[in-house]
Amino acid sequence: MRPAPERQSGGAALIDRVVAEAEAARDEIVEFTADLIRIPTVNPPGDLYRECAELIRGRLEEAGMAVQFVTAEGRPEHTPGHPRINVLGRSGDPGARPRLHLNGHFDVVPPGDDWTVDPFGGLVRDGRIYGRGASDMKSGIAAAVFAVEAMRRAGVRLRGGVDVSGTVDEESGGFAGVAYLCETGVISPRNTDFAIIPEPFGPTRVCVGHRGVYWFDIVAHGHTAHGSMSHLGHSAIDDMGALLEAFRKELGPDLAVRRSGLPVVPDPSRRPSLNVNAIVGGQAGESVQSPCVADRCTATFDRRFIPEERFEQVRDEIVRVAKAVEAEQPGRRFTIEDRMTVHPTWAPRGSPVVAALSRAVRTVTGVDAEQVASPGTYDQKHFARIAGVEHCVAYGPGPLEEAHQPDESCAVDDIVTSTQVIALAATELVGSP
Ligand SMILES: [Zn+2]
Repeated sequence: MRPAPERQSGGAALIDRVVAEAEAARDEIVEFTADLIRIPTVNPPGDLYRECAELIRGRLEEAGMAVQFVTAEGRPEHTPGHPRINVLGRSGDPGARPRLHLNGHFDVVPPGDDWTVDPFGGLVRDGRIYGRGASDMKSGIAAAVFAVEAMRRAGVRLRGGVDVSGTVDEESGGFAGVAYLCETGVISPRNTDFAIIPEPFGPTRVCVGHRGVYWFDIVAHGHTAHGSMSHLGHSAIDDMGALLEAFRKELGPDLAVRRSGLPVVPDPSRRPSLNVNAIVGGQAGESVQSPCVADRCTATFDRRFIPEERFEQVRDEIVRVAKAVEAEQPGRRFTIEDRMTVHPTWAPRGSPVVAALSRAVRTVTGVDAEQVASPGTYDQKHFARIAGVEHCVAYGPGPLEEAHQPDESCAVDDIVTSTQVIALAATELVGSP
């Protein structure tokens, strides 16, 4: 570890030094990303969180930060077998403002099939690093950590502070992770002015927010009877079929003509959508079958909505269609059970964090940053909705398309570029002029 220079000279020289220090750390960044990938923090169930939190703690301490674990006491998913341990490092004087929070989730989804490399090997080949989490988002955590390290090595003096957290469970909603930190005041407007989440949108894209999601089940209630006298029963599966058809015919054309002003990528996701995630009806398929009319059929729906749609409107449309289908035939009955609602979230127009990242992208890459929004949600919702930290965006390395895919990978150049961009943006936001 090199000693941090004593004084900073401002302006272009400082920018050059920060960029150069991040480049000089290339091998360390790759090694740290690979080490993170080699800990299979698979969620569910939430494996090896302590080991990963300890790895991150060690690196944050090397970067000169004051580090603590924040364990999600009281959350049902925090168990002795699978403890929910978040790690937080703080730099600078705790009371100094403004403060920037860099947050990355270190849980990954299960690897699934069809890998041609070891998903937890951390292989580096032809300028890319491979493994589950290479894109979503262990390379992002490495970029955040080494952004702080590059600032320190370049001698950036802070007028405020930078915090870095590695958190759990984003892939299952983030309730023991970022939400817990927000609920307990670890992240709050009293200690956080800006936040950057290095989710994989790529090194030249700043993600300003995300669409909303309404997850719900609809249960069709029928009446069972012998399958040889099905006229004596009432099939819940037939009713569900009618309902699905009505959604397609009645709601489909309406959704197709709505388009968000939020720059959601990929482009078709600018429109709202309704997907059937699952459907279960009658007897479970794997058991020995008996001749019965299905008296129950449940479908799980995934309605993605845009800021231009109000949640009440979204729900009313669903209820209206279900009631209309009920009215078509005597004996039909549907009930709706809500699972989860996340409202659309986006950083305010003219947010300093968007401006700082955009300038940094321009400085480092020579191209103009593209502002995008995410089709799916991520931890930004907790920063904005629970903590009330509205100047929160996502910016980080990795191709979004490779998230959750077999042979997930990230270009090493992109990790280094993102490290440089985050470091420069942080220098602008909380460095001393
Ligand atoms: Zn992610």
